[in-house]
Amino acid sequence: MREEFAVKPKEGEPWDVVIIGSGPASLTAAIYTTRGAASTLILAGEKWGGQLMLTTQVDNYPGFPDGIQGPILMMAMRKQAVRFGAEFIEKDVEEVNFLSNPFELFVNRKKYLAKTVIIATGAKTRWLSVPGEERLLGRGVSSCAPCDAPLFKNKRVAVIGGGDSAMEEALVLVKYASSVTIIHRRNEFRASAAMQSRVKNNPKMKIIWDSAVKEIIGEQKLEKLKIWNLKTSQESEIEVDGVFVAIGHSPSTEIFKDKVDLDEKGYVKVFDHTKTSVEGVFVAGDVHDVNYRQAVTAAGFGCMAAFEVIRYLDKNTTVVKNS
Ligand code: NAP
Repeated sequence: MREEFAVKPKEGEPWDVVIIGSGPASLTAAIYTTRGAASTLILAGEKWGGQLMLTTQVDNYPGFPDGIQGPILMMAMRKQAVRFGAEFIEKDVEEVNFLSNPFELFVNRKKYLAKTVIIATGAKTRWLSVPGEERLLGRGVSSCAPCDAPLFKNKRVAVIGGGDSAMEEALVLVKYASSVTIIHRRNEFRASAAMQSRVKNNPKMKIIWDSAVKEIIGEQKLEKLKIWNLKTSQESEIEVDGVFVAIGHSPSTEIFKDKVDLDEKGYVKVFDHTKTSVEGVFVAGDVHDVNYRQAVTAAGFGCMAAFEVIRYLDKNTTVVKNS
C-alpha cells in the first residue's frame, strides 16, 4: 500500500530532496523525509542496497531476535520508503553541480533538480593492488564470502586482513572450505575479541602472521599466493583455490571531489551533525562515518540527515500568499 505525503514535482521542477545511494542510511532518510512531506527521489545506483546486499545473516540489527538476511532487510527498507512515496531509480549519478540553485544531478545525461541533497553513497571494498588480483577477480579472487563461499566447498582458501570483516569472511568460508588460512600483516588481529576467539577456536583455521601478499598467481584461475614475511623478508608460496580480500573499505566519493569538503581519506567532512561544507547538502552513513560503520548507525545518521533536511526546507521555503 502506498501512502503519499508529498506531491511529486512537475517536469523541470526540483525535488525537495534527492538522496544519492541506497543503503540503510539512504532508505532510513527517505522514510523520514517522505513522512515529513518532502518529495523524495532516491538515486539508488545500479547495484542498489549497499554492503548489506552482500551479507548473509545480520544478527546485530535490533528488532530481529533470530537475525535477518542482509538482502531481505534492505528489500524491507526499500519497500517501507517507497510505501511513503519515495521515487526509486536504480541508476548511478555521474555528476553533481552544487553551485547551482537548485542543485543539479546528472544520470545518463538526464538532469534532476534538488532543493536539498543527502549524500549516502557508502563505502566500497579496498583491494590489495598486487599483480594478478584484478585479472583473477571472479576466478578465485573475491571480496564477498557470503556471495562466493559455496563455490569453495572442500577447497583451500585464504583470507587477507585482521579486522572484523576478515574474521567474518573466514567464519563464513570455514563452513564450506577444507581449510581457511588468514594472512595478516601484523602479529595480532584488530578484530573484536569475540570474533577472534571464534576464529582461533576453529580447527580448520590457520593463521600466518606478519605477512603480506606479493602476487596472486594462476593462469585461468587462482593457483597460489606469493607471500612475504614483513619481519624476515622471506618469500614463500601457498597453494589455494580462493583468496578473499578483507582489508577494509574506501568511501564512495569520487563524484563529490571538489564539490564538498572531503578528509584526507576521502570521507565527506561533517560540520554540525549531518551538514556538509555546502549549505543544503547533507551526508549520512559510511561515506562519512569511519568510527562505527554499522547498519544501525548508518540508519541513525539517515534519520538525522532527514531531520536536518526538513528543518532546512522549512527555513528556506518561501510561502507565497495571495494578495
Ligand atoms: P578494519 O577494521 O579497518 O580492518 C582492516 C584490516 O585489514 C586490518 O587488520 C588491517 O591491518 C588490514 N589491512 C589494511 N590495509 C591492508 C593492506 N594494504 N594489506 C594488508 N592488510 C591490510 O576494516 P574491517 O574489518 O572492514 O572493519 C571495518 C569496521 O566495520 C570496523 O569497525 C569493524 O568492527 C566493523 N565490522 C563489524 C562486523 C561485525 O561486528 N559483525 C563485521 C565487519 C566489520 P592492521 O590491523 O595492521 O591495520
